[in-house]
Amino acid sequence: MQAQPTASHFIGGKYIEDTSGALIESRYPATNEVIAQVHAGTEAIVAQAIEAADTGFQQWRTSTPAQRAAVLNKAAQIMQERNRELSQLETLDTGKPLQETLVADAASGAEALAYFASIAATMTGQHIALGNSFALVKPEPLGICVGIGAWNYPIQIAAWKAAPCLAAGNAMIFKPSEMTPLTALKLAEIFKEAGLPDGVFNVVQGAGETGAALVSHPRVAKVSLTGSVPTGTKVAQLAAAGLKPATLELGGKSPLIVFADADLDNAVGAAMNANFYSTGQICSNGTRVFVESSVKAAFLEKLVARTKAIKLGNPMDESVQLGPLVSAAQLARVQEYIDIGKQEGAQLVYGGARAEPSGFANGNYIEPTIFADVQDDMRIAREEIFGPVMSVLAFESEEEVVKRANATGFGLAAGVFAGDLQRGLRVVDALDAGTCWVNNYNLTPVEMPFGGYKDSGIGRENGLAAIQHYSQSKSILVELGDVEAGW
Ligand code: NDP
Repeated sequence: MQAQPTASHFIGGKYIEDTSGALIESRYPATNEVIAQVHAGTEAIVAQAIEAADTGFQQWRTSTPAQRAAVLNKAAQIMQERNRELSQLETLDTGKPLQETLVADAASGAEALAYFASIAATMTGQHIALGNSFALVKPEPLGICVGIGAWNYPIQIAAWKAAPCLAAGNAMIFKPSEMTPLTALKLAEIFKEAGLPDGVFNVVQGAGETGAALVSHPRVAKVSLTGSVPTGTKVAQLAAAGLKPATLELGGKSPLIVFADADLDNAVGAAMNANFYSTGQICSNGTRVFVESSVKAAFLEKLVARTKAIKLGNPMDESVQLGPLVSAAQLARVQEYIDIGKQEGAQLVYGGARAEPSGFANGNYIEPTIFADVQDDMRIAREEIFGPVMSVLAFESEEEVVKRANATGFGLAAGVFAGDLQRGLRVVDALDAGTCWVNNYNLTPVEMPFGGYKDSGIGRENGLAAIQHYSQSKSILVELGDVEAGW
């Protein structure tokens, strides 16, 4: 299988190659075959991207809100029309089943473009009457923004960052994860076809080093990263050195709390979504499933029965529900955590082994895995695994579970299942998490701001909140009278 792009980078409206950069191989996680090769951005490529982005920005900043909206809307439409082709490419790059990529990746990116097109068209300032003078307050773009993506939702992350960035009149240089370099290039092609001026959206490949070079560049005004907490800390430090704002969407170890009066079938379905979707490689996953003791046995029985029925295999087969992990390294990491869970004394109630579906024996497959009797101090309950490994913990009271749910440095997300809605809302209010769900889990509509508390991040993506992170306000006082000078 081949998915070789025209060239590694997309800068100034065209594909650019520079083979002197380190070789990056993209592998299809279901077979580990190399499907494409690109080269990391060198210093010269970074410099070229900055020049192109600056040229693009000077033109784009003078466009009207309606013009920006038209381009973003057109890009959304093209993305929707090409959804299948983009989804197949995303499946090749990430291994996520086509069943998922068809609905959750380019489709979600297109929604973000359409949503921020509407916002672009409505961006206005303020007039403040001050007697003999008045003030104008107007939103202005920041300049060149850098977006850095993780490998789990490559095109979605690129679009979620580009949409508010461009809507507010900025230019972007996007660096995908070296693990998944392909679909951001397609987004760049789509923007060009939609009429975006050259240089307003650029893609530079590379690993952490290239990301760091972009963040530290003196002509970069802002950075938005999706990645792990350690990378977030490094990027925040680099951004702080240049006094640049940083939006950080980082990791989590989120709680999903199931009270005894909840609809157990819904709670089980949500727990499965919250741990097995995208083979568990989702930052907001509810990986600590707290179940009230009186319903724990019934919950586990339903959970195991439904987990047994999960279809794992060929990601391109639309009936397949679980694909491989993104890389052999991620597989090794998840297997290590499963071993740790067993050694720590958690009860393995389902899965735990490597899977070798027919025709895909070399893929990075692992069975969906459920641990019960997990204790709060076990590593599998404290550390982000980023694989399909669910920990079920029992609890007795509301007060106790809130305290335990909050006893983590992370604060990305949380879910509560409760028949008593007053209780559901009361518990959500007490949880330290930026994104919460009552009686559902992991829904991220573009209208709703998404982001974390504590170590899980700074700032928000999506919703009206995102646009604020990509604009600054200029206040202008206009004098209609005389200047009063004291001398
Ligand atoms: P990493 O933190 O390893 O990498 C994220 C991105 O940052 C990659 O593009 C990486 O490049 C780049 N990078 C690494 N080091 C630096 C640096 N010093 N300066 C600038 N950029 C750098 O995360 P993963 O790709 O492994 O993704 C998994 C993590 O992302 C998980 O912890 C997960 O929770 C989190 N995540 C958070 C989400 C959220 O919205 N909160 C959503 C999805 C994932 P490269 O990898 O190419 O070396």
